[in-house]
Amino acid sequence: MTNRAVLTEIEESDEWRALANCKGIDTNIFFPSASDTEGIARAKEFCKRCRVKRECLEYAISHEGTRATPGEDLGIYGGLGYDERRLFARRRSSGRG
Ligand code: SF4
Repeated sequence: MTNRAVLTEIEESDEWRALANCKGIDTNIFFPSASDTEGIARAKEFCKRCRVKRECLEYAISHEGTRATPGEDLGIYGGLGYDERRLFARRRSSGRG
């Protein structure tokens, strides 16, 4: 089984959520306004210390644009904001990431 397949299994099982650094906290911290540089830095710092950062990032990328709650895509996931995730995914798919 490839690493990607293992990761997909983890993502699909959602078991990684139990290990999230943000489990049980007010997730509003991951939705700072675009001008709130301190808030953005605080959220990213939280993600930096998260053991499931990679799983969270993959989940966010694979669910971009499919969430039921408006604005949910705009949050910080896996340490990256919306535009950063899009850039990351684009670079990766073009072999530059
Ligand atoms: S990477 Fe950030 S948003 Fe994702 S689970 Fe970890 S702390 Fe939460």
